[in-house]
Amino acid sequence: MVKTYKVAVLKGDGIGPEVTEATVKVLEAVEQKANFKLDLRYGEAGFHCIPRYGTNLPKETLELIKQTDACLKGPMTTPEEPGAPPSVAVTLRKIFTLYANVRPCKTYPNVESLKPDLDFVVVRENTEGLYSGDESLLAPGVAVALRIITREASLRIATFAFKLAMQRKKHLTYVHKGNILRITDGVFKDAVKEAQKNFPEVEVDDMHIDAATMQLIKKPEAYDVIVTTNLFGDILSDEAAQVTGSLGLAAGANIGEKYGMFEPVHGSAPKYTGMNRVNPIATILAGAMMLDWLGEKDAAAKIENAVVAVLKEGKVRTADLNGTATTSQMADAVVTKVKAA
Ligand code: NAD
Repeated sequence: MVKTYKVAVLKGDGIGPEVTEATVKVLEAVEQKANFKLDLRYGEAGFHCIPRYGTNLPKETLELIKQTDACLKGPMTTPEEPGAPPSVAVTLRKIFTLYANVRPCKTYPNVESLKPDLDFVVVRENTEGLYSGDESLLAPGVAVALRIITREASLRIATFAFKLAMQRKKHLTYVHKGNILRITDGVFKDAVKEAQKNFPEVEVDDMHIDAATMQLIKKPEAYDVIVTTNLFGDILSDEAAQVTGSLGLAAGANIGEKYGMFEPVHGSAPKYTGMNRVNPIATILAGAMMLDWLGEKDAAAKIENAVVAVLKEGKVRTADLNGTATTSQMADAVVTKVKAA
């Protein structure tokens, strides 16, 4: 029997619809060559929903997501005024306990990078830390934000990262600012050490966030699996995307026990909206990560191989890769390679 996966597709804001539609084309091409079906269910979410629904995550969309096996999410614009709805990504990570944000950082052929042959992964705790969104104004001009760090969430993300390290080079670096944030990062550090006891084969390095960001530029090959708290992971993974190539190539998975949400690392890049100019590869690779997580490893590999083949050929390059190709030309080039595989 042919297996069917229900996938929620949220196109998002800004460049979101362009990169998501490009990814759907690639997913449909790989589906035709595979022994599974994708039942794509489109939902509305993002900044553009606020005038109509009063929220960026309408309850109809939340219900739709709950009926699916995974979510492909385009980037969304996040309002910045106090009291505005929080980021949809952050809300979904919390509702579905998508505690592990996995951001692979790899060099690709013909893509300029700081060093050749890089391949490491940033694993970011996704449910707490400075993304608690719990802020208040104590007095005019005096504000606080709660940085919540728990043993439970830290142990969970550390265990996830150690398991990933076991499948890779058995090397893990945990990143914190324990010299200043002694109590919160003390909890995080203790949890990593507790998890480490179950993975004696993994070599472990310990770094402060400031040193780690510097090291990422100076000696990125020193990393394999990096595990860290929420905000540090967000910043390190954007930096890593640029070190290895372009934000336009960086994909991320948000993984929980029962659900997975897959999205590009980049945001909605509003200034490029509707210009058919940005690189869809980050979202296409997020689609591949989704198939991999659903258990469709061959189909996921077909997409990644197709992306590598297009980049290796070097004929179709978007502006971030110093080329002139459009978003749809890049998508079509990947589709052609998938069909030829
Ligand atoms: P951004 O990632 O949207 O854009 C920064 C720059 O990166 C762009 O100007 C562009 O030069 C480059 N870039 C991004 N995507 C690219 C692509 N696919 N191809 C080529 N170049 C690309 O970051 P920002 O400007 O800080 O944020 C814009 C909005 O997106 C904000 O509202 C922010 O909150 C939101 N955001 C959303 C998510 C998400 O939905 N998960 C993530 C990050 C930012």
